[in-house]
Amino acid sequence: MADAEREVFVPSVEQGDGIVVGLGIFSTEKIAMSVLKDFLKRTEQMDLISAEMTRWVIDIIGHEGSNLLFRMANRRCPVCERNTFWIDLVSFNAMCYGSGCGAWIEDNIHIEEIIDCGWPPLRFLHQSPTVESAMTELGKMGARLKAAGQADSDLAAKAFLEEYGEEGSLTDDVLRKMGDPKLAD
Ligand SMILES: [Zn+2]
Repeated sequence: MADAEREVFVPSVEQGDGIVVGLGIFSTEKIAMSVLKDFLKRTEQMDLISAEMTRWVIDIIGHEGSNLLFRMANRRCPVCERNTFWIDLVSFNAMCYGSGCGAWIEDNIHIEEIIDCGWPPLRFLHQSPTVESAMTELGKMGARLKAAGQADSDLAAKAFLEEYGEEGSLTDDVLRKMGDPKLAD
């Protein structure tokens, strides 16, 4: 215990008005991360522009005791078009925290040159060579969903699945989401 560095994890978010809000000081990165993720679910109701996680070693004076673990920026989601899409600025992994969405982009864990992206409500999965093309794929899907939402019919949803290939079964729940005007807006 005497030699061990004692470290703490501090998640924080920055609001549109420039005010940084600390979310607490936690003993493990895992807990700090779950606190931050919970908070990001409120992105829809709040004006947040960035989020970060800092590790601090205690009893060290000044910034040498701190280490920025990651920084995320908030962008417009390519699928639901709300400002709820959080991108890790180092790894470029991303996820939408908007309700009913959950669009994501992630490095493929097996093959380095592949970027995976997906949209859980339709079990949509796609592999792209770059983050940009993954964003484009999600954007195309967003446009399709919008069209399906505007048509507000099961047929539009089915046509969508036929075009993109059906990965899972089209459940009533998915159909309801497709017709949700909030998604189409
Ligand atoms: Zn979204």
